[in-house]
Amino acid sequence: MTTGVVLARTGATFRVQTEAGEVSAVLRGKLKHRDDDRVVAGDVVELELQSDGRVMISGVRRRKSVLARRAAGERSPRAQPIAANVDQVVVVASVRSPDPNPRLLDRFLVIASANGIPAVIVLNKVDLDRAPLERLLERYAPAGYQVLATSVRTLEGLAALRDLLRGRESVLAGQSGVGKSSLLNALDPGLNLRIGEISAKWDTGKHTTRAALVVPLAGGGYVVDTPGLREFGAWGIDPELLAACFPEFRRFLDQCRFDNCRHLAEPGCAVREAAEQHAFDADRLVSYQRLYEEVSVPSWSSDRRRGR
Ligand code: GDP
Ligand code: ZN
Repeated sequence: MTTGVVLARTGATFRVQTEAGEVSAVLRGKLKHRDDDRVVAGDVVELELQSDGRVMISGVRRRKSVLARRAAGERSPRAQPIAANVDQVVVVASVRSPDPNPRLLDRFLVIASANGIPAVIVLNKVDLDRAPLERLLERYAPAGYQVLATSVRTLEGLAALRDLLRGRESVLAGQSGVGKSSLLNALDPGLNLRIGEISAKWDTGKHTTRAALVVPLAGGGYVVDTPGLREFGAWGIDPELLAACFPEFRRFLDQCRFDNCRHLAEPGCAVREAAEQHAFDADRLVSYQRLYEEVSVPSWSSDRRRGR
């Protein structure tokens, strides 16, 4: 028996990376009858070679973490796993073209936090201007997020980014144009080619929502290529747990007058008071309130609002 890491899935077939190379494998019957989402990209699986030459997935190792959406359900919302064993979310912004979008950065950070996955912020293109770095540091230091400045032009921060990614499975999230591909290519030329290969072979293109891909990095570690991290409402985060996804709010949460304070307009809200006293950037509270509105409407209506 050997083990491998699931890189991609198409229908019933999984592409699995093993020490001996990549193989195609199918789920053993017994596993198939369970939850359909049982095996996703990033899962570590046990493989068995059948006498007919086919490779079977005979077991799934316990996940260290799972990036999952909470699919709307009448009584018990069901977790829909996107990728398994994600070690960190690397939220990438750029100094210019596009400018940093704090509202969007906060969304990505909340998704990571709601999934119990650590996050790091990368500010790319610092060769163009350093002022935005100061602003991001001020905004995110109270929450404890690391902000790494990078430039593909001057190579600043690239060694640190390489260290950050090495040996870990990372999701890179960020607007298009911030330089995600440029950064990855600077660290690992040929990576885009591999992403292209895996997605060309494994993306049937028939479904609008493509599954996540996990792509091995040359220096060890993996990046998760996943579409749709941006559609925040669809993540189905529990409104009551949202405030705790802003780490700098946490120490104030049990000081609100009401136990069930939503930190919107309630009197005696310690989080709002803390924002007014600049314990943290008050704009983070604006992000919280916007996100609260989104996650507190039923998913069917938020889908409709988005015109889908
Ligand atoms: P992605 O959409 O996030 O993958 O972004 P790309 O990697 O395609 O980069 C978008 C544009 O930003 C390209 O024109 C890159 O040449 C440019 N770019 C990427 N990194 C840097 C950088 O560090 N400094 C500057 N000045 N431009 C960059
Ligand atoms: Zn409150």
